[in-house]
Amino acid sequence: MQALLFDAVGRVRHTTVPDPALADPGDVLVRVEAAAICGSDLHIYNGLETGLDAGTVMGHEFAGEVVEVGQGVTGWQPGDRVVSPFTTSCGACFYCRAGLTSRCERGELFGWVEKGKGLHGAQADLVRVPLADATLVRVPEGVPAETALLAGDVLATGWFGATSAGAGPGAVVAVVGCGPVGLMAVIAARELGAEVVFALDALPERLALAERWGAVGLNVRDDPAARVRDATEGRGADAVVEAVGSPQATRQAFDLVRPGGTIAAVGVHTESNLAIAPGEIYARNLTYRAGRASARDAMPRLLPLLESGRYDLGALFSHRLPLSEGPRGYDLFNRKLEGCTKVVLAP
Ligand code: NAD
Ligand code: ZN
Ligand code: ZN
Repeated sequence: MQALLFDAVGRVRHTTVPDPALADPGDVLVRVEAAAICGSDLHIYNGLETGLDAGTVMGHEFAGEVVEVGQGVTGWQPGDRVVSPFTTSCGACFYCRAGLTSRCERGELFGWVEKGKGLHGAQADLVRVPLADATLVRVPEGVPAETALLAGDVLATGWFGATSAGAGPGAVVAVVGCGPVGLMAVIAARELGAEVVFALDALPERLALAERWGAVGLNVRDDPAARVRDATEGRGADAVVEAVGSPQATRQAFDLVRPGGTIAAVGVHTESNLAIAPGEIYARNLTYRAGRASARDAMPRLLPLLESGRYDLGALFSHRLPLSEGPRGYDLFNRKLEGCTKVVLAP
């Protein structure tokens, strides 16, 4: 099959590799209809997250069709259209039962093979999905694969950020970073009933999408914290979602949040210290939450939102490319060229 492999920092390669095979009775093979590039793939691409073996198939956002099922699989058969969360989960362990599927005792992240162990990704013709009965979710009738895959990562992550931050009826919410994750956090906050959602970025095309989906776009260069304070009698935002993953973004979130408010960090951080001092958290009675989204747990709630068509989420994809142009897709998304907001690859 054709696949996009991690080669070295700054380099992914389109090539041909052997087809994956079922390895466990609970596995299925999925023929990928659409696989997207995520901001998290960029951490690997840029060498910020390390440890991934060269030769790993990249990618963890995908939807497609079941083509082969293991003997132990009861819920799926060939021909079923499925979408996957970005990690597998068993559905039965302590964490899965608590809704924390991202911390499943048996869970694995797609597209992460380290020292020969782990799971290959989905930027390929075929992907092996372990724990398939508990991991995969059916794609609702009429929902395109590229839209469905959003529920498996960026929409679920935005939802997780918005709920963790306490976005809800009447809340003033600020979202730091209008990448796909931040944009989905905007939508989530609106769905949760936020009174107003401010969305921060420096890129006009991303701010435009935030506004299209109901946020007040704020350019980071225009003192956004002052704008938010002006709108809240000097207080600041009740709930801040940090969807970048850098010390600067953490400071930005801190500048925006009101005393007693919550910062939910869904950006993946690779620095060794939190950019807010314990004393600063104390002095403003802040809550700081972080972590990997439990996408599988959120998907049954999010797929109906996609099905409703309330948001034209196809607009998120600035680039639809064949898998063979994957290396160019990484470069465009990484350097944010050609107004690139998200890339979806179709094998
Ligand atoms: P992205 O790189 O496309 O988006 C980041 C955006 O933040 C860009 O638009 C950039 O211009 C903006 N930005 C950068 N610095 C900023 C600052 N100081 N203030 C405001 N905006 C700033 O990536 P994405 O796909 O949207 O992912 C965002 C983050 O979420 C990444 O760190 C990714 O790894 C992480 N992520 C986490 C989870 C999870 O489960 N927690 C899941 C998916 C992605
Ligand atoms: Zn992702
Ligand atoms: Zn589990």
